[in-house]
Amino acid sequence: MSTRLYQCIEAIGNKIIENKDFLTDLDREIGDADHGVNMARGFSEVLTALPQDETDIGAALKKVGMTLLSKVGGASGPLYGTAYMKAAGPAAGKTEIDLTVACEMLKEAIAGIQMRGKAVKGEKTMLDALIPAYETMVSCIESGDDAKTTLEKMCETASMGVEYTKTIQATKGRASYLGERSIGHQDPGATSSLITLEAIRDFL
Ligand SMILES: [Mg+2]
Repeated sequence: MSTRLYQCIEAIGNKIIENKDFLTDLDREIGDADHGVNMARGFSEVLTALPQDETDIGAALKKVGMTLLSKVGGASGPLYGTAYMKAAGPAAGKTEIDLTVACEMLKEAIAGIQMRGKAVKGEKTMLDALIPAYETMVSCIESGDDAKTTLEKMCETASMGVEYTKTIQATKGRASYLGERSIGHQDPGATSSLITLEAIRDFL
């Protein structure tokens, strides 16, 4: 019997794997057509490598991060790998987390992505989904929303962030080589970040 923690990561992995072709098609338009393939392969490895009876959330996320770092090529492996490893920090030794800890985890994950990718919001990257989602999470916690409502609102703003990536030029990563021609296309990394949040929302 797998833990609820494993089931949540499995839900994320399955949704990424389901969207493999969609993510790869997005990356074909402005990148090198490997984002979906890479992420799906990475999460297949994660679901194999992660012990199904793991209860320590920090240990599990560290394992997820290390697996993505070592198994996923391109930029997405190091970026998502770093995000999960950093998210593991506030969850170290914990078997349950509340919204406040989850918010710290997302904050750390974003900081890790920013450090590793040297990117800020508005450069057509995963940050354009994650930073608005984080800001929404902070305000939901302030107004006392429950986890389900918080995740719903986070997905709404992350989705708006993905839409926003269509309107801007890429200045980071391979898509930046296209210059102005990157406008009009939605960012694959922002999209896989949204998919991750939606998987957590649906799981809850
Ligand atoms: Mg790519």
